[in-house]
Amino acid sequence: MSSTENYFRTASAIDALIADGLPRLMPMMEELFPLCRSLTGTGVRATLDAVGAMIPLAREQMPTGTICFDWEVPREWNIRDAYVKNSKGERILDFNETNLHVVSYSLPVDATMSLAELQPHLHSLPDQPDAIPYRASYYNEAWGFCLTHKQRESLTEDRYEVKIDSTLEPGVLDFGQSTIKGDSSAEIFFSTYICHPSLANDQLSGIILLAHMMKLVAGLPSHRYSYRAVFAPETIGVIAFLSRHAGQLTEHMKAGHVVTCVGDDGPFTYVRSKRADTAADRIAEHAVRHVASTRKRVCNILEFDPVGSDERQYCSPGLNLPVGSLMRSRYSEFAEYHTSLDNLDFVSEVGMQGSLEGYLRIVQSHELNCKPLRTNPFCEPQLGKRGLYSQYVSVNIEDFHIKLLNILSFADGDHDLIEIADRLKVPVWTIIEPLRRLVEADLITLDLDVGTHREELAEIA
Ligand code: ZN
Repeated sequence: MSSTENYFRTASAIDALIADGLPRLMPMMEELFPLCRSLTGTGVRATLDAVGAMIPLAREQMPTGTICFDWEVPREWNIRDAYVKNSKGERILDFNETNLHVVSYSLPVDATMSLAELQPHLHSLPDQPDAIPYRASYYNEAWGFCLTHKQRESLTEDRYEVKIDSTLEPGVLDFGQSTIKGDSSAEIFFSTYICHPSLANDQLSGIILLAHMMKLVAGLPSHRYSYRAVFAPETIGVIAFLSRHAGQLTEHMKAGHVVTCVGDDGPFTYVRSKRADTAADRIAEHAVRHVASTRKRVCNILEFDPVGSDERQYCSPGLNLPVGSLMRSRYSEFAEYHTSLDNLDFVSEVGMQGSLEGYLRIVQSHELNCKPLRTNPFCEPQLGKRGLYSQYVSVNIEDFHIKLLNILSFADGDHDLIEIADRLKVPVWTIIEPLRRLVEADLITLDLDVGTHREELAEIA
């Protein structure tokens, strides 16, 4: 099969995935939600096990103490149980109810104390009295419990039995990556983080979306690009990953996308890469604007923010990779963020599938974008004698005809399909049918060669 035939088959296959109904993502969300994830430990490994059961996943471990750039892999944290009991022996705070009750990376504790002694170790949110906050203390040795402010205010003077059955000892940091080999070694890259406990939108939604997306992408008839998806703890995990694999990324990356907060049905939010004008930005902004408008959702485009997620590492000065981030409601801006309210009720199948559609359209736009070239560039070709004028009277002739004329006019080697679609104010995937007719009529050929970000920069320089 020719590469042009594969090109059109893959475009239609993604249309069909979206039209036929995307897989349900909430069952995996419900399965993985209870796990107590952190930077390290069994919860992270169980999460990677679930991802590895769905897609091929190359797992890696980095021992405690390994130096990665300016960082050091921390000790491994595991927890079996934790509680605060009152003098009647009742568990008033119970890790088994929600793992958010325990500050992540808490040192082991086994003590009895007064309320005054317990208070400095309690965390609550006076402004959100019904929410349990999520807290972690990775790099300061501490222990603590999180609870609603309402519950905290109801605590009375008593002797409290405080137990945290945790271990913090030399171990490993886990991460994994999944790859799909395409016709070119140029890569479309995705990254999500795996270190939050029972929080649904930030970030379990990212793991589940990316695993499903890679499975669907692997099943496509062909791939012009190679694909890489990284599942690593935020910050230190990605820094550890980059300390081993940065060379692969700088050499092969075409565009990268950090997947986070994709479970609510709020506005689409795209945060640009630091360069702001890369293929990642052009493609994601194009795809997401159109997906948002078909779903009647707002689309916010934001500039790079050094207080963001893992794009902070990918866009750091030594790498400056073309990595942006697509999410729905932006982390730290929704009220449920980093609290017990970011739970299974906050995310939804509609939200998850809407985000998956956004990411699939990004993949499709990458696969589709190319430069069309006229086989005979002089004047307009006569469309009537090729059946391209009258054939579509019964459909929307105007729309179809306008698309044909735009493709023919801009098939000059300078313009790509995203530019042509942008001029038409339509998604690139809606100009593929007219493009296919022009290719079948031998009026257009497609330049399907792809390059990496590095090659693009060299071309500009
Ligand atoms: Zn977070």
